[in-house]
Amino acid sequence: MKQDKNILNDTFGRTHTYLRLSLTELCNLRCTYCMPAEGIQLSPKSHIMNFDEIYTIAKTFVDHGVTKIRLTGGEPLVRRDVHIILKRLASLPVELSMTTNAVIVDRYIDLLKQCNIKNLNVSLDSLQAEKFNTITRRNNFEKVYTNLFLLIKEGFNVKINAVLIKGFNDDEIVDFINFTKTHNISVRFIEFMPFDGNRWDKSKMMSYAEVMEKVNSAFDENEIIRLKDAKNDTSKNYKIKDYKGSFGIISSITNPFCDSCNRIRLTANGQIKNCLFSATESDLLTPLRAGKDITPVIKKTIASKFKIRGGMDTLEKLESPDLHGKNRSMIAIGG
Ligand code: SAM
Repeated sequence: MKQDKNILNDTFGRTHTYLRLSLTELCNLRCTYCMPAEGIQLSPKSHIMNFDEIYTIAKTFVDHGVTKIRLTGGEPLVRRDVHIILKRLASLPVELSMTTNAVIVDRYIDLLKQCNIKNLNVSLDSLQAEKFNTITRRNNFEKVYTNLFLLIKEGFNVKINAVLIKGFNDDEIVDFINFTKTHNISVRFIEFMPFDGNRWDKSKMMSYAEVMEKVNSAFDENEIIRLKDAKNDTSKNYKIKDYKGSFGIISSITNPFCDSCNRIRLTANGQIKNCLFSATESDLLTPLRAGKDITPVIKKTIASKFKIRGGMDTLEKLESPDLHGKNRSMIAIGG
């Protein structure tokens, strides 16, 4: 197919070379910040992309210049045909990575290696079993903790994603950083973001500035090293002198990184979103099933991307449930 990199360009000069691909709306955890307690309305099974459709859509993006695909969900590893999907995607000239809660990752070590998936983001919001189990509404701490060490031992590049919630796990910031003393991993603290049904309120969010206050009071100024961030990094990265690993802060709320955004999202039911915060989505699956070319839809969706956070360019707009409540729960978007 003739490559047309222009379809990945928006009107603000950003090129979208990074696809976040959600494999499923299902998850084996029930994280409070990600989904409402009562669960979400799942798409009918027939509306979920099958492995051929996933491959075809992914290939279309790769043909037009996408160089990186991150598999997410829901929990990508709970999908029954995940081995077929990974093997097919691994045949594309693209860097594959995955975000997982690691509950069952031990069953997939060989598959991940076969598919050349080296970079894994593991969600872990607490180093304390009881707290972890509270926030995930499941009792899987030991499993996840053991699997985290297994991934490190097996040589994967591991990043821990920890969503910080004030009064709940913000007292563990220094513990997480100390975890990087002997482990060559990166811990990323994520500002708690608002989505439909997650009862977000700004007072529960630990901002970038507040995280750094904790860091500054726990470590000497000359021990805290600001690292150079990679071109499209979402995190502001640091390390503590002589520690093996590093840490970063993903500040989508207080310090958004929209200027350098290169990401586009594909939901498990075949909708693309040009921004995590976008209230609108475009259907790729229906035209694909009708045998139509999906590139015009991709082009139009990317061209209509807002400059900042799906149009919620001020904190006031972001705080309004009328605006952020139009967006799906994170579990159904794919983080
Ligand atoms: N099941 C996988 C996992 O747990 O990593 C992948 C899906 S999960 C939706 C992807 C990421 O989204 C996780 O790192 C999670 O912490 C993050 N996330 C979900 N809801 C969030 C929210 N309200 N604010 C910030 N991050 C959120």
